[in-house]
Amino acid sequence: MALTRPLDVIIVGAGFGGLTAAIECKLRGMNVTLVETYPTSLNYGDIIDFFPNGGRIIENWENGQVGRDLMKICINQGDQFQYFKADGTKIYTEDWILEPHHYWKQYAGHRGQMHKVVLDYAEKVGVNMQFGHRVTQYHDGDKPSVTTAEGKVFAGDVVVAADGPRSIARQQVLGLPDTKVNSGYAIFRAYFTLTEEHAKHPLLKEFCDQTVDKTLLWTTKDLHMIIYTWNKGKDLGWVLTHKDTEDIGESWSFPGRKQDVLDCLAQGKFEKRLVEVVNATPEKNIVDYKLVWRDPLETWLSPSAHTVLIGDAAHCHLPTSAQGGSQAMEDGVALAVALDRSQGDVALGLRVFERIRFNRSHVTHMASIAVRDGYHNVDWDGDFIRENPHILALPRPEWVIEYDIEKESEKYFERLAADVRNGRKGTIQELALPAGGDYEPKTLKRKGPRSKF
Ligand SMILES: Cc1cc2nc3c(=O)[nH]c(=O)nc-3n(C[C@H](O)[C@H](O)[C@H](O)COP(=O)(O)OP(=O)(O)OC[C@H]3O[C@@H](n4cnc5c(N)ncnc54)[C@H](O)[C@@H]3O)c2cc1C
Repeated sequence: MALTRPLDVIIVGAGFGGLTAAIECKLRGMNVTLVETYPTSLNYGDIIDFFPNGGRIIENWENGQVGRDLMKICINQGDQFQYFKADGTKIYTEDWILEPHHYWKQYAGHRGQMHKVVLDYAEKVGVNMQFGHRVTQYHDGDKPSVTTAEGKVFAGDVVVAADGPRSIARQQVLGLPDTKVNSGYAIFRAYFTLTEEHAKHPLLKEFCDQTVDKTLLWTTKDLHMIIYTWNKGKDLGWVLTHKDTEDIGESWSFPGRKQDVLDCLAQGKFEKRLVEVVNATPEKNIVDYKLVWRDPLETWLSPSAHTVLIGDAAHCHLPTSAQGGSQAMEDGVALAVALDRSQGDVALGLRVFERIRFNRSHVTHMASIAVRDGYHNVDWDGDFIRENPHILALPRPEWVIEYDIEKESEKYFERLAADVRNGRKGTIQELALPAGGDYEPKTLKRKGPRSKF
């Protein structure tokens, strides 16, 4: 029988996955409590991208107003994404915005500032924010709950673990051992504000261009560096991915040493422009962020199917997928649709949710390694890269970025629910919707004219 009261949803973790789930559940009339360790995330992070499959979700919020607020602080005059060899030889360019209709669906900027905009919207729609509380224990069952470090208990009809790459739900809810997490790589990352002094510097002045936001990538063996500029030549974020086999154990984010970054640039024989960007970066802004890798899970559901993992807790994407944030947001929408449509049958809703999302997120999750290895193992002397420079392009296949998660979730809910009710047998890969595509280079082909806005 359908539930006659709103569902009580407890969400752990206010990253983009948890926030999206909270907003989308609230918009569908559920009572939502969001429990987050940190009091604020405004100062955290440097650059994060949302491509049109994620941006479409934002664009649906408040008649596009959330997107308008985001665009004020994001790359809004991006021209081309440019790819270089380490020595500065340009090898490929592609439009930053591939199609005109992507403009209001593609957001990239400072993670903390973007997070604040989405957080404000979650608060506005009435999500109950419980910040400054670290969950230490998940309790599964028909009335699932979580307990915080101070002993506070939050109970509901469903618990959503959106607690990121270091999720404790993996052990406590799924009963998995805490596997080793080092991906073998780390990222030096930084964000800083450009000044008039930088605008006078011969190698830095191009980054202070007030008319065009820059999106640039350099790659060589085992190293790649990306620079973004935005906010009319005032904001600059850079990331340098490098090999790092240290056992990261408990710690996975350290202050970065400028000299270590410069040593990496020297080792990769990167051009002087990059050295100057790093020299201009205040050392206190540099973070050495260890990249966590988690193998795909066999299920994201607790034994009772009343607790579920989403986002990086379920499928920990590396940044090279360019999809971690967007896939976490897709989870949030699919979850809200499935809970809404299952009318109080939480276990049914979560099982359908998993079948909507499993195969699709698996392909983008695994692609993050393939794309990184592609960047780092280019045979510059061979003919292949000369003839196929597009293989270095950002992974934006149409089947990924044109996807409308809300529409697809609504479309397939009944069919998948019938499978669940009828006890259809098979592996999760067989029972779930097909991924819809792959990351073969042929799917990376670009089309369409260059767009101006
Ligand atoms: C501080 C921060 C900075 C980041 N910066 C960048 C960046 O600059 N560029 C980029 O590409 N990606 C960045 N990411 C990662 C990116 O945001 C995510 O990969 C992606 O958006 C997936 O989101 P998620 O919601 O699944 O996980 P996450 O974004 O990792 O969010 C998980 C949330 O859960 C909270 N949490 C974890 N454990 C508990 C607990 N026990 N109790 C309560 N709360 C808990 C965390 O504090 C966090 O807010 C950052 C993530 C964080 C948390």
